[in-house]
Amino acid sequence: MNTETLFISDLHIALEKPEITRRFLSFLENRASKASAVYILGDLFDAWIGDDDPTPPGNQIRKKLKQLTDSGIAVYLQQGNRDFLLGESFCRDTGVTLLGDYAVIDLQGTPTLLTHGDLLCTDDISYQAFRIKSHTPEWKQGVLSKPLLLRLLAARWYRIRSYFHKRKKSMDIMDVNQNAVLKVMREYKCLRLIHGHTHRPGIHNFEINGEAAQRLVLAAWRKDSAEVLCWNNQGYRIEVI
Ligand code: MN
Repeated sequence: MNTETLFISDLHIALEKPEITRRFLSFLENRASKASAVYILGDLFDAWIGDDDPTPPGNQIRKKLKQLTDSGIAVYLQQGNRDFLLGESFCRDTGVTLLGDYAVIDLQGTPTLLTHGDLLCTDDISYQAFRIKSHTPEWKQGVLSKPLLLRLLAARWYRIRSYFHKRKKSMDIMDVNQNAVLKVMREYKCLRLIHGHTHRPGIHNFEINGEAAQRLVLAAWRKDSAEVLCWNNQGYRIEVI
């Protein structure tokens, strides 16, 4: 029985990066179709202003995801900090299952904690404050009730602003805080954590109460390179596509 599970995150799909869209569509058709489940751990899109946005390449991606889930492959999605407005109607259209900010799965017998990763960057205090505010139902409702054109313009502005903000922030506060990592892993009773967000792919080994623990960080997709974390009953490997 095929029990291969694939993990990806941080594709940051946007109209002006057609290479990444193409690579993702081809990944869904040629690679994901051979797995049993696919987990997308946030920031699939570089911006998401509501499920009602008809601008490309949203519909192309909806269609391909739907074909995949219709063929019996389970696809799970977490929201990232860029696409946290991805909602129920996107999931209905595509057949993907939306997971919460933290999800525990049984990965080949090991309870494994999945999250996008932004919640672990607790040293970035101004971001965490914005996150709390922007995740309230009132804030989301306020945004989603604005006319589409206004939302498109606002998203453009936020992306430019975020680019300059990021350049000013020190590299350290944009990585995870190890105490925050330990805290959630203890809370969810997991010795393995998989996340993205930081764009610092790597495998970190440490201990929790004397037991071996592991944090796997997924790579962001780029124009010229993309990585998939593949897990089967033999263990894991990073596949470059
Ligand atoms: Mn992110």
